[in-house]
Amino acid sequence: MMEIVKKIKKIKKIKKIKKVKKVKKIKKVRSKKAEYRELDNIWKTKVKQRDNYMCQICNKKVEGKNCHAHHILPRQFSKLRWDVANGITLCYRHHKVGKFSAHQNAIWFYGWMRANKIQQLRYLITKLTEYKE
Ligand SMILES: [Zn+2]
Repeated sequence: MMEIVKKIKKIKKIKKIKKVKKVKKIKKVRSKKAEYRELDNIWKTKVKQRDNYMCQICNKKVEGKNCHAHHILPRQFSKLRWDVANGITLCYRHHKVGKFSAHQNAIWFYGWMRANKIQQLRYLITKLTEYKE
């Protein structure tokens, strides 16, 4: 009888430890997410400040929801995620929805970068060679 009680106590103790570890893990993931969000926001602000809050394509002042900081190379390229040189300020249309926008038309956007932001493009292409396919 005592053996069973001991076993149950042991199982309960293990479950409790597992639960604590799980909570700690969740908290760690959450804090990492919060940290990334914070860094993303700092990056966005820096990109917009550098570009004087103007869509670099249409040269118009942009603010609020119409002011976007676009990642030229996706966030998955972790070394470039918070590199200001990997960002460009765009209006909503030139960022996401227009037929001629960074997200809808990669070939056109690449050509635009070549014609208008060649130094930045060269820098990013150089950085890209540090990654493997
Ligand atoms: Zn624009």
